[in-house]
Amino acid sequence: MRCITLLACVAAVAASPAKARHDIDASQGADAHPTFTVGTATATRGQKALGVLKVPAGSDGGYDIPVAVVHGARPGPVLAVASGAHGSEYASILAVQRLIETSSPADISGTLILLPLINVPSFEHITPHVNPTDNKSMNRFYPGDANGTQTDRASFVITRDVVEKCDHLIDLHGGDLDENLRPYSYWTVTGNQKQDEVSRALVLAFGLDHIIVSRDRPKDPKASRYLENTASTRGKPSFTAEAGRSGPVNDGDVTVLVNGVLNVMGHLKMLQRQAAPVRNPIWIEPVITVAAEQDGVFHPRVDRDARVAKGASIGIVTDYYNRKIQDVASPDAGIVLFIRALPSLKKGDTIASVGVVKR
Ligand SMILES: [Zn+2]
Repeated sequence: MRCITLLACVAAVAASPAKARHDIDASQGADAHPTFTVGTATATRGQKALGVLKVPAGSDGGYDIPVAVVHGARPGPVLAVASGAHGSEYASILAVQRLIETSSPADISGTLILLPLINVPSFEHITPHVNPTDNKSMNRFYPGDANGTQTDRASFVITRDVVEKCDHLIDLHGGDLDENLRPYSYWTVTGNQKQDEVSRALVLAFGLDHIIVSRDRPKDPKASRYLENTASTRGKPSFTAEAGRSGPVNDGDVTVLVNGVLNVMGHLKMLQRQAAPVRNPIWIEPVITVAAEQDGVFHPRVDRDARVAKGASIGIVTDYYNRKIQDVASPDAGIVLFIRALPSLKKGDTIASVGVVKR
């Protein structure tokens, strides 16, 4: 009986498309996005499409940023997940790769926009922290500038083609080549209480149990600086999460990030997935960074995640003859969120980042 009814419906669509569409609208609501396009990737409902965001040439060269659009079988929220702004934070890049491979449109209500590698030049040249084309961090120049250098232009394209089209954004990072980092998320407090409650619930759903409270991000959407903040200042509850560290990839870090995104999708009802939000997370505020006073060789005295007292030694810096030139003390009591993973040290480099636990 159900088959017969369906056949009759198909026949009606064939005979009178306009009327059928009207009937569908009246009974189920219009599909606002029968197709979804990001850059050169266009997916019809229930499809996955691969393509690129074209960063045009300007004062320096252009390049292509890979993008995947997973347009779920049913309408729902649009979630963007980005990684590789720092192209040697590998666990986060592999996590988004895995999401591209494993996400099935048939299982999804809503749309996933997946950017596995924003900073292709950094990945290709194994350059930490910056885009080697213009020596700029690719998470500091949002919302971007169509007439700037390559990083500015890439940021402009991502703002226009990804941030403007999504409802929520998750920016994935991790310890870069020189950062021995423990996993954590950031919760940005915008001051808009309703939005902040939504983003707080997203961060708790993601599941990392260390959460940095970030109140000092710019409030002006025209000077948003960070990718997550570009979405947040445009009224889209979003957050950043970090896992992985210093080069070689630990599969557990990739899995934590993949599961975090799936948990958020469950929370947003984009997926049928039950995952309890993290209970009693460790809230961290503020985060204090310790910088190198001069060039030298860094010798850590503690590991990532160490609990340290104010003034406790976390390492020493020597000259190239192994003579001590700096005692590195923790600036406050807290958790070592990351510590320098490599001996190489230049004046001004970050040696460690210590998070103070909120009481
Ligand atoms: Zn990063």
